[in-house]
Amino acid sequence: MNLKLDWKAQARFWAKVKQGKPNDDWFWTGAVDSQGYPAFGLGTSNAVSGRRVAATMRYGEIPPGKYVSDTCGYIMCVNPAHLVLSEQARAKLTTEKVVEIRTRAAAGESRAKLCVEYGVTAKAVSELLRGLTWKNAGGPIAKTRKRK
Ligand SMILES: [Zn+2]
Repeated sequence: MNLKLDWKAQARFWAKVKQGKPNDDWFWTGAVDSQGYPAFGLGTSNAVSGRRVAATMRYGEIPPGKYVSDTCGYIMCVNPAHLVLSEQARAKLTTEKVVEIRTRAAAGESRAKLCVEYGVTAKAVSELLRGLTWKNAGGPIAKTRKRK
């Protein structure tokens, strides 16, 4: 999808964002879509993903088959510095689920079981347990892998 982001559209976009320091989370204050993600009305088309708009400003047009994901764990964050292009569709995780997974893993539940139950990859679970992703979500962070 090619977004036509002229300066007017960009100004309208940033007017709906609570910007902070370059590395802060910049929260979207505008409309959200049915899944709770930032939604931005652009031209006459339906609303587009606010995160896609922000990522387009950073990376240019998003190639087909690429998705925009956040590195901070906040679905409302549209800081372009926190957005990366990935091959995976939107994560199915939420902050609440991440805390649940961390709590259950800390209590000794198997990672494989958690992967299946939450529908995420082993890599995603491993990264979130170590706090590499979802840094601000909370819950216990695994320092070292437990021996069974
Ligand atoms: Zn962020």
